[in-house]
Amino acid sequence: VTPFLAGAIAEMIPNAGDTDRCAECGFAWASAAAACRARVDGAAEAFERLLASAGSGTDLRPSEPDHDGWSAAAYVWHLGDVLRAWAERLHTLSVDPSISWAGFDPDELAAARHYDALPVVTAPWALARSVDALAVALAPLTADDGFVHPEWGQGTVADALRWLAHEVVHHELDVRRALHLRG
Ligand SMILES: [Zn+2]
Repeated sequence: VTPFLAGAIAEMIPNAGDTDRCAECGFAWASAAAACRARVDGAAEAFERLLASAGSGTDLRPSEPDHDGWSAAAYVWHLGDVLRAWAERLHTLSVDPSISWAGFDPDELAAARHYDALPVVTAPWALARSVDALAVALAPLTADDGFVHPEWGQGTVADALRWLAHEVVHHELDVRRALHLRG
Protein backbone atom coordinates (compact mmCIF):
# COMPACT_ATOMS: atom_id res chain seq x y z
CA VAL A 1 0.00 0.00 0.00
CA THR A 2 1.43 3.39 -1.01
CA PRO A 3 1.40 6.39 1.39
CA PHE A 4 -1.37 7.83 -0.82
CA LEU A 5 -3.72 4.86 -0.38
CA ALA A 6 -2.92 4.51 3.33
CA GLY A 7 -3.57 8.24 3.85
CA ALA A 8 -6.80 8.17 1.86
CA ILE A 9 -8.13 5.21 3.85
CA ALA A 10 -7.13 6.71 7.20
CA GLU A 11 -8.73 10.10 6.51
CA MET A 12 -11.81 9.19 4.47
CA ILE A 13 -13.00 5.97 6.13
CA PRO A 14 -13.64 6.26 9.86
CA ASN A 15 -12.96 3.03 11.71
CA ALA A 16 -11.24 1.59 8.65
CA GLY A 17 -9.10 -0.57 10.92
CA ASP A 18 -5.82 -2.10 9.89
CA THR A 19 -7.15 -4.80 7.58
CA ASP A 20 -6.78 -5.55 3.88
CA ARG A 21 -10.43 -4.70 3.21
CA CYS A 22 -12.73 -1.73 3.79
CA ALA A 23 -14.47 -2.53 7.08
CA GLU A 24 -17.76 -1.21 5.72
CA CYS A 25 -18.10 -2.29 2.06
CA GLY A 26 -15.55 -5.15 1.96
CA PHE A 27 -13.49 -3.75 -0.93
CA ALA A 28 -10.05 -5.43 -1.04
CA TRP A 29 -7.34 -2.77 -1.12
CA ALA A 30 -5.03 -5.10 -3.09
CA SER A 31 -7.57 -5.55 -5.92
CA ALA A 32 -5.95 -5.85 -9.37
CA ALA A 33 -5.75 -2.55 -11.25
CA ALA A 34 -7.50 -4.04 -14.30
CA ALA A 35 -10.45 -5.20 -12.19
CA CYS A 36 -10.64 -1.74 -10.58
CA ARG A 37 -10.63 -0.12 -14.01
CA ALA A 38 -13.50 -2.39 -15.12
CA ARG A 39 -15.49 -1.45 -12.01
CA VAL A 40 -14.99 2.26 -12.73
CA ASP A 41 -15.82 1.82 -16.44
CA GLY A 42 -19.15 0.17 -15.57
CA ALA A 43 -20.11 2.67 -12.86
CA ALA A 44 -22.50 4.87 -14.83
CA GLU A 45 -24.58 1.91 -16.02
CA ALA A 46 -24.58 0.35 -12.56
CA PHE A 47 -25.81 3.50 -10.85
CA GLU A 48 -28.37 4.23 -13.57
CA ARG A 49 -29.82 0.73 -12.95
CA LEU A 50 -29.70 1.27 -9.21
CA LEU A 51 -31.55 4.61 -9.35
CA ALA A 52 -34.10 3.14 -11.77
CA SER A 53 -34.71 0.21 -9.43
CA ALA A 54 -36.12 2.63 -6.87
CA GLY A 55 -39.20 3.02 -9.08
CA SER A 56 -40.61 6.11 -10.71
CA GLY A 57 -42.70 7.07 -7.68
CA THR A 58 -39.69 7.35 -5.37
CA ASP A 59 -38.34 10.79 -4.61
CA LEU A 60 -34.58 10.22 -4.64
CA ARG A 61 -33.58 13.67 -3.51
CA PRO A 62 -34.55 14.34 0.12
CA SER A 63 -32.55 12.38 2.65
CA GLU A 64 -34.55 9.79 4.52
CA PRO A 65 -35.11 10.68 8.18
CA ASP A 66 -33.15 7.62 9.32
CA HIS A 67 -30.27 8.18 6.90
CA ASP A 68 -27.46 10.48 7.98
CA GLY A 69 -25.60 10.64 4.66
CA TRP A 70 -26.46 12.16 1.32
CA SER A 71 -29.44 11.24 -0.87
CA ALA A 72 -29.08 8.45 -3.45
CA ALA A 73 -28.69 10.86 -6.38
CA ALA A 74 -26.24 13.04 -4.42
CA TYR A 75 -23.82 10.11 -4.16
CA VAL A 76 -23.96 9.69 -7.95
CA TRP A 77 -23.28 13.41 -8.48
CA HIS A 78 -20.40 13.13 -6.00
CA LEU A 79 -18.88 10.19 -7.90
CA GLY A 80 -19.10 12.09 -11.19
CA ASP A 81 -17.31 15.07 -9.63
CA VAL A 82 -14.63 12.89 -8.01
CA LEU A 83 -13.91 10.96 -11.21
CA ARG A 84 -13.75 14.16 -13.25
CA ALA A 85 -11.33 15.75 -10.76
CA TRP A 86 -9.15 12.63 -10.99
CA ALA A 87 -9.28 12.70 -14.79
CA GLU A 88 -7.98 16.27 -14.64
CA ARG A 89 -5.24 15.28 -12.17
CA LEU A 90 -4.12 12.36 -14.31
CA HIS A 91 -4.03 14.60 -17.36
CA THR A 92 -1.78 17.00 -15.43
CA LEU A 93 0.40 14.04 -14.42
CA SER A 94 0.82 12.91 -18.01
CA VAL A 95 1.75 16.42 -19.16
CA ASP A 96 4.12 17.29 -16.30
CA PRO A 97 4.55 15.17 -13.13
CA SER A 98 6.18 18.12 -11.36
CA ILE A 99 2.94 20.18 -11.36
CA SER A 100 1.24 19.76 -7.97
CA TRP A 101 -2.45 18.96 -7.63
CA ALA A 102 -5.00 20.88 -5.58
CA GLY A 103 -7.11 19.07 -3.01
CA PHE A 104 -10.84 19.65 -2.48
CA ASP A 105 -13.34 18.98 0.28
CA PRO A 106 -16.18 16.73 -1.01
CA ASP A 107 -18.66 18.21 1.48
CA GLU A 108 -17.84 21.78 0.43
CA LEU A 109 -18.20 20.73 -3.22
CA ALA A 110 -21.57 19.11 -2.45
CA ALA A 111 -22.76 22.32 -0.80
CA ALA A 112 -21.47 24.56 -3.60
CA ARG A 113 -23.03 22.36 -6.30
CA HIS A 114 -26.33 21.85 -4.39
CA TYR A 115 -26.35 18.10 -5.02
CA ASP A 116 -29.80 17.72 -3.48
CA ALA A 117 -31.24 20.30 -5.91
CA LEU A 118 -29.63 18.76 -9.01
CA PRO A 119 -31.80 16.58 -11.28
CA VAL A 120 -31.64 12.84 -10.60
CA VAL A 121 -31.93 11.97 -14.29
CA THR A 122 -28.67 13.72 -15.23
CA ALA A 123 -26.53 12.26 -12.43
CA PRO A 124 -25.63 8.97 -14.23
CA TRP A 125 -25.09 10.90 -17.47
CA ALA A 126 -22.60 13.22 -15.73
CA LEU A 127 -20.90 10.18 -14.21
CA ALA A 128 -20.61 8.59 -17.67
CA ARG A 129 -18.94 11.75 -19.05
CA SER A 130 -16.42 11.63 -16.18
CA VAL A 131 -15.67 7.97 -16.90
CA ASP A 132 -15.05 8.97 -20.54
CA ALA A 133 -12.68 11.74 -19.42
CA LEU A 134 -10.87 9.31 -17.13
CA ALA A 135 -10.30 6.91 -20.04
CA VAL A 136 -8.77 9.73 -22.10
CA ALA A 137 -6.54 10.77 -19.17
CA LEU A 138 -5.42 7.21 -18.46
CA ALA A 139 -4.49 6.39 -22.07
CA PRO A 140 -0.91 7.78 -22.00
CA LEU A 141 -0.22 6.50 -18.44
CA THR A 142 0.81 3.11 -17.05
CA ALA A 143 -0.29 1.55 -13.75
CA ASP A 144 3.20 2.09 -12.29
CA ASP A 145 3.37 5.83 -13.01
CA GLY A 146 3.78 7.76 -9.78
CA PHE A 147 2.26 10.96 -8.43
CA VAL A 148 2.26 12.98 -5.21
CA HIS A 149 -1.19 13.68 -3.77
CA PRO A 150 -1.32 17.07 -2.00
CA GLU A 151 -2.53 15.59 1.30
CA TRP A 152 -1.77 11.87 1.21
CA GLY A 153 1.61 11.75 -0.53
CA GLN A 154 3.16 9.38 -3.00
CA GLY A 155 0.97 7.00 -4.98
CA THR A 156 0.74 5.15 -8.27
CA VAL A 157 -1.87 5.15 -11.04
CA ALA A 158 -2.77 1.59 -9.93
CA ASP A 159 -3.54 2.85 -6.42
CA ALA A 160 -5.53 5.76 -7.83
CA LEU A 161 -7.66 3.18 -9.69
CA ARG A 162 -8.03 1.18 -6.45
CA TRP A 163 -9.19 4.30 -4.62
CA LEU A 164 -11.66 5.21 -7.39
CA ALA A 165 -13.00 1.63 -7.63
CA HIS A 166 -13.50 1.73 -3.87
CA GLU A 167 -15.44 5.00 -4.26
CA VAL A 168 -17.73 3.20 -6.74
CA VAL A 169 -18.21 0.09 -4.58
CA HIS A 170 -18.62 1.99 -1.31
CA HIS A 171 -21.12 4.46 -2.73
CA GLU A 172 -23.13 1.61 -4.29
CA LEU A 173 -23.63 0.52 -0.70
CA ASP A 174 -24.54 4.09 0.33
CA VAL A 175 -27.07 4.35 -2.51
CA ARG A 176 -28.62 0.98 -1.64
CA ARG A 177 -28.95 2.14 1.96
CA ALA A 178 -30.46 5.48 0.91
CA LEU A 179 -32.98 3.61 -1.28
CA HIS A 180 -33.55 0.96 1.40
CA LEU A 181 -32.49 -1.77 -1.04
CA ARG A 182 -30.77 -4.93 0.06
CA GLY A 183 -27.03 -5.15 -0.63
ZN1 LIG B 1 -15.67 0.91 1.55
